[in-house]
Amino acid sequence: MMQSVTAKGILTPNKYPAGWFGVNYTINLYRGCDIQCIYCDSRSERYGIEDFHNVTVKTNALELLRRELASKRNKSLTIGTGSMSDPYTLMDRKLQMTRHALEILAEFRFPVHITTKSDLILRDLDILQQLSRKYASVAVTITTADDDLARKLEPHAPTSTDRFKILAELGKIGVVTSITMMPILPFLEDNPENIDQIVNQAAAAGVKHIVAAFGVTLRDRQRDYFFNKLDGEFPGLSDRYRRTFGNAYECRSEREMELKHQFNELCSRYGISTNMPYYQAPTQSAVQMSLFDD
Ligand code: SF4
Repeated sequence: MMQSVTAKGILTPNKYPAGWFGVNYTINLYRGCDIQCIYCDSRSERYGIEDFHNVTVKTNALELLRRELASKRNKSLTIGTGSMSDPYTLMDRKLQMTRHALEILAEFRFPVHITTKSDLILRDLDILQQLSRKYASVAVTITTADDDLARKLEPHAPTSTDRFKILAELGKIGVVTSITMMPILPFLEDNPENIDQIVNQAAAAGVKHIVAAFGVTLRDRQRDYFFNKLDGEFPGLSDRYRRTFGNAYECRSEREMELKHQFNELCSRYGISTNMPYYQAPTQSAVQMSLFDD
């Protein structure tokens, strides 16, 4: 059953824009996420989202977005979505909230960044193409090249193979494409073959940026959920996590250094940046040049 709520505001300022794709303001049209990745950090207590997989829609989100954007004079601020829940929840197929939010962003001509795992984004190629005339950046999260493993870890997301196809499609229409290769789960995904396959397929899909984290962060009920799911699919693995990491928040792969080295070498071979892209407003001289072009 769909739950709904009325929000007080929709643009949340980001204190550290340099830290996440240059995003100055984040929008979350939904609360909770039905893609149900077993490692999802948004389940942890600090975010206070009960019943995380039951998505709640913010019914007045689009109205708020229009009003709040209209009051911003600086049109170089990047608006991002996809940090707390995937903007393309299964529910968005019917509600199309994300599509309408992108239409509003295109109307006001703001640069946009989206993080997603969903192929539903291909529905909105027309608006993304329009947005990309100013700036549209999409990061697709891929943690394993193995489709069977991805199905166990990210049950309602498209296969990794399909996610590479999404990136190729987006690249063709001028969207700046990246892979967020995170988390790379210790004992499941932290092996050279996986890193090799992801970077190779990224290069084939024309991806220009990959940002990686060789490990996972775990806390309170997010950890409980993760261990419970591991017990179902990978018997014995949660005990290995307990033995190795205890109650640590940062659970870094024991192979982090080796994998980082391999990752950096591969990316440099393909000309892939390991930094996030971000919007850069055109300089005054570029603006003047474009006036001459008209
Ligand atoms: S898609 Fe993102 S927000 Fe949704 S469950 Fe997976 S990690 Fe969490």
